[in-house]
Amino acid sequence: MAYDESNIFAKILRGEIPNDTVLENQHVLAFNDITPKAPVHVLVIPKGQYTDIHDFGQRASSDEKAALFDAVAEIAEMKNLEEEGFRTIANTKSNGGQEVSHFHLHILGGAPMGPMVSSS
Ligand code: 5GP
Repeated sequence: MAYDESNIFAKILRGEIPNDTVLENQHVLAFNDITPKAPVHVLVIPKGQYTDIHDFGQRASSDEKAALFDAVAEIAEMKNLEEEGFRTIANTKSNGGQEVSHFHLHILGGAPMGPMVSSS
């Protein structure tokens, strides 16, 4: 699937719409979700144009991949999530329920996250 430059996270990366930044470096931007589903709900995105985790896994450089995992660890510490734990989600394409077609990890924490998958 071709990368759609009009997606909302592409606009955030271009500075066209604001975000509540949690962490930023050469490869990664992390910001608070606009409609948080947990006390802590941070989105971690690569700055490169990748549509989803599969695309990122296939095409991203080792540095970009390391930066993403480093960011997750850093945010877990910043938000004091590492002791009680947290959930990381990468919704992917239609069956995964992905709404924004720029790869992103959700970091959810600050309370028990409940069942992994809804039974309904
Ligand atoms: P997905 O369903 O694609 O995995 O998740 C997309 C997430 O992006 C949702 O949790 C949604 O609340 C969040 N989101 C959508 N638009 C915006 C926005 O403009 N700003 C921020 N910070 N989050 C957004």
